[in-house]
Amino acid sequence: MDMQSSSYRTGRVFLCRVKHKSELVKAILEFAEEKRIKTAIFTVIGAVRDATIGYYDQDAREYQKIRFDKHMEIAHATGNLTRKDGKPFVHIHAVLSDSTGKAFAGHLIRATVFAAEIHIQEILGQSLEREYDQTTGLALWKM
Ligand code: ZN
Repeated sequence: MDMQSSSYRTGRVFLCRVKHKSELVKAILEFAEEKRIKTAIFTVIGAVRDATIGYYDQDAREYQKIRFDKHMEIAHATGNLTRKDGKPFVHIHAVLSDSTGKAFAGHLIRATVFAAEIHIQEILGQSLEREYDQTTGLALWKM
């Protein structure tokens, strides 16, 4: 089989507005901790004042960082909350667009929010942990 999986149930649904100038990853982690959400999937739309995304160099096995020190739209971002090293861990991919409508996308490392709306779907079931994967060099879901 080409896929490994686990079965889960859906839990609470949250619609959130992120405070101006908050750091997006931190805001999601803090919210999850406050609401005791262990596992979730989410989407984000909004705008950022600046952001850093990553491109994973598969040969070097490290992220190349791409920094945008400008205002951009979050045309779409999607992510999940699981656990890594026993702690909550957020994984987000984002499509950001600039004043010309040109889009840039990648693994979101950090972003300073101008305004953002998040739809969070809690997932109930066994804890989903990440573990180091020899083949990719990434911390992937342990299933
Ligand atoms: Zn990623």
